[in-house]
Formats: sequence, C-alpha cells, structure tokens
Amino acid sequence: MAQVQLRSVVKKYGSLEVVHGIDLDIADNEFVVLVGPSGCGKSTTLRMIAGLEAISGGEIAIGERVVNDLPPRHRNISMVFQNYALYPHMTVRENLGFSLKIANRPQSEIDRAVEEAANILSLSDYMDRKPGALSGGQRQRVAMGRAIVRHPEVFLFDEPLSNLDAKLRTQMRTEIKKLHQKVQSTIVYVTHDQVEAMTLADRIVIMRDGHIEQVGTPLEVFENPVNTFVATFIGSPP
Ligand code: ADP
Ligand code: MG
Repeated sequence: MAQVQLRSVVKKYGSLEVVHGIDLDIADNEFVVLVGPSGCGKSTTLRMIAGLEAISGGEIAIGERVVNDLPPRHRNISMVFQNYALYPHMTVRENLGFSLKIANRPQSEIDRAVEEAANILSLSDYMDRKPGALSGGQRQRVAMGRAIVRHPEVFLFDEPLSNLDAKLRTQMRTEIKKLHQKVQSTIVYVTHDQVEAMTLADRIVIMRDGHIEQVGTPLEVFENPVNTFVATFIGSPP
C-alpha cells in the first residue's frame, strides 16, 4: 500500500477551484518532487497533505489512515518551509528539541533525538547559537533538523532552498539527498526549479494549472514527455 495516497483531491477557495481532482500514490521511502510553474497548485497540494488546508473534495491517506479530518499534529508528518520559521529567541538546541518538549517527551529522549539530528545535519558546533548568528544554509539545516527529531513517516518540503544563493542551493541538494538516505522516510518536495526536481527525485510529478500533466522518473519524463508543455518545462530535446 502507498505511504501517501491522493484520490480525486480538490481544492476550492470560495468558488475558485485551484486543484482539480488529483490522484497520486507515493511509496514508502520514495522521494517525490512536485514541480511546475508558479501558481499551478504545488504548495496548496502539499498543505492539504500536511493538513494546513482543508480539502474541498476527495480523500488523502497517510500510511493506513484516511487523514481528511485529522489536524497536522496527528498526521505523522513534518514540514520544512522556505522561510525556515525558526524561533529567534531560542538556541539551535532549543529549536531542535522544542516540538518534543511541548509533546511532553522525557528529557533523555529529547536529548537523544536532538543529538541524532545534529549529527545527521552537522550542527554540533552551533548548538548554543541563536538563529540570528547563523548563515542561511545553517538555518535551513536547523529547520530540517527540527523536522527530523519527530521521526515522521513523511517529510514535506516547500521550496526549502529558494532563499539561498545558487552555490549554497547546489550544496544543500546534496545535503537533502544524504538526509533522505539516512532517515529512510518518504519525502514530498515542492519546487518550481526543474534542475532541482530532476536531481533530487525518484519520481517527479509535473503540475500545471491545478492538475497533473505527467508522473515518472526524471529519465522517463525527460525521454518521453507526454506533451510540449512537459517537454518545454523539462528541457527535453525536440
Ligand atoms: P504554487 O505553490 O504552485 O506556486 P499555490 O498552490 O500557492 O501555487 O497556488 C495555487 C493557486 O491557488 C494560485 O492561483 C493561487 O493564487 C491560489 N491560492 C493560493 N492560496 C490561496 C488563498 N489562500 N486564497 C485564494 N487563492 C489562493
Ligand atoms: Mg508555492
């Protein structure tokens, strides 16, 4: 059974429908990238999986459970945003442990999870700094570390690298690939950047105007685009 399942998922804002009945099966441990032009509905789709937006129709399942009516904290997901959303008054260590602390986990468990995240993301040297004293790349690693400590079934990333310069973006792509290998979790990753999609994904999902144009491995999509939109977007040879 798929780890994340979307069945005819629809999103309307008032009378405006922006996601038109999407079907998608994402396997356990799979790295799936939703890609497409700005405004095509990538973030909305991700936020519906996260439970940050209610769905207007259809069904979303995570693991064995239909999650349509579950709040985000009960969905066993962690989300990483492009604006980091770190707590400025807390140290890196406190930022990493915060979600476990408010869940009343024992301190020994928090310490262990924080250490593990710090090791995976090479944060050990910055643990007592506050976000204001970190570089953009370091902040993004803390944001990812915060997602890891909860050992979610599914990681959701919304354009996590778009605030970084080109060099750092390339570096962080490698970091994210490593993270995926180490944590062995399902990742649903949103970007408008084709190169990022092609290098990160096991499968890419190409979206346009609230629907899916094509799903496949980067190579499949590159070699056999279903239409000129996909071919142009991916940069396939004519
Ligand atoms: P993407 O992430 O692919 O750039 P979004 O999912 O953010 O696209 O947006 C999809 C469409 O939904 C866009 O046309 C956007 O203007 C619209 N939209 C997003 N959020 C809202 C909202 N809160 N209210 C009304 N329309 C929205
Ligand atoms: Mg978006």
